Amino acid sequence: MRHLTLAFALLLAGACVAQAPGAPVSRILEEPAQDTDGITRVLVYHDMEGLTGQSDPKTFRFAHPDRYAVGRTYLTGDVNAVVAGLFEGGADEVHIVDGHGSGNPDPDLLLEDLDPRAVLVSRDAIFDAYVDLIEPGVYDAVAVVGMHAKTGSGGFASHTFTLGIDILFNDMSVTETEIVGYSWGRVGVPVIFASGDDRLALDLAGPMPWIEFVTVKTATSASTADPRPVDEARAELTATARRAIENYRNTWAMRLEEPVQAVLHAVPPADLSMLDGVPHIEYADQRVSFQASDFREAYDGLIELVTVARGGYSGVLGEVARRMSGEGLDLAYSDALFDRWLDFESGRWLPPEPIPSIQRTYHGFR
Ligand SMILES: [Zn+2]
Repeated sequence: MRHLTLAFALLLAGACVAQAPGAPVSRILEEPAQDTDGITRVLVYHDMEGLTGQSDPKTFRFAHPDRYAVGRTYLTGDVNAVVAGLFEGGADEVHIVDGHGSGNPDPDLLLEDLDPRAVLVSRDAIFDAYVDLIEPGVYDAVAVVGMHAKTGSGGFASHTFTLGIDILFNDMSVTETEIVGYSWGRVGVPVIFASGDDRLALDLAGPMPWIEFVTVKTATSASTADPRPVDEARAELTATARRAIENYRNTWAMRLEEPVQAVLHAVPPADLSMLDGVPHIEYADQRVSFQASDFREAYDGLIELVTVARGGYSGVLGEVARRMSGEGLDLAYSDALFDRWLDFESGRWLPPEPIPSIQRTYHGFR
């Protein structure tokens, strides 16, 4: 049985990934690791763009407090629906981590309304929810709630990691759900459940066909969507999460074939063209490619490149500055740059006092 399943896994791995015949398999599917502690423990990542009832992009942005407050009610309702289903299906513990990063120092979830059985993951230092929680023998399965399609998919708020970023591992453009999957797959933990819009359903159907998926809305553009009736969609979230945990042994943990070929591809408002022509940097058409020994090295390199690509955002800042203040802000910025140069060169510039690190609790992405 086990051998049959493994053979099927290899078949599936080959079939799922579009590649030329004879090309190396770019990833490996494996049976979930055995539960070692007798406790079925599930980690739930929540994002905030693929929520039930949601069609306004301001509802996932902390910068718009009135709309964000509404988004928090969507989020808490969806997470509670999934948590209920996981417990019904046999989970002993459900932990939740923020995979969104709204900028709110407090959790996006409304804690007073959250299912009291759920435990919020928190640490007293900044951590990256995609990679810093990974350890063997703790979680049996991962579920993701309120997710969005990848950059270029035309889904509601579709993006990957941040605005204008597209990430490829071994020639596969991936969603954040797949990033979570490849990260947890390193310790044999499968992603078993996801919710989001119809475009994310399409994004995941090829690479992760075992996922129990709930489509909560239809994207009509990146900024508009037709949500399903909330009660109906939430009932399906509960029923589907229940089925997912009941059957989680029949899903797959996935790992990237090594070495990993990584590509960061930028689209507006991000930009990588400043790296064009730099020796030893493999750049073409807004793409920077490199080879890494494993997932973690690839991920860390990509995150550094994201910082470079976000330099493209400043072009938008320039447009806003000109629109809001004519030439005034342009001149003030130019003068400030020249002052910084001349002050530094004259030995009279002191770096600003480092901002004291605030003693606070971190729940996932900042
Ligand atoms: Zn996201």
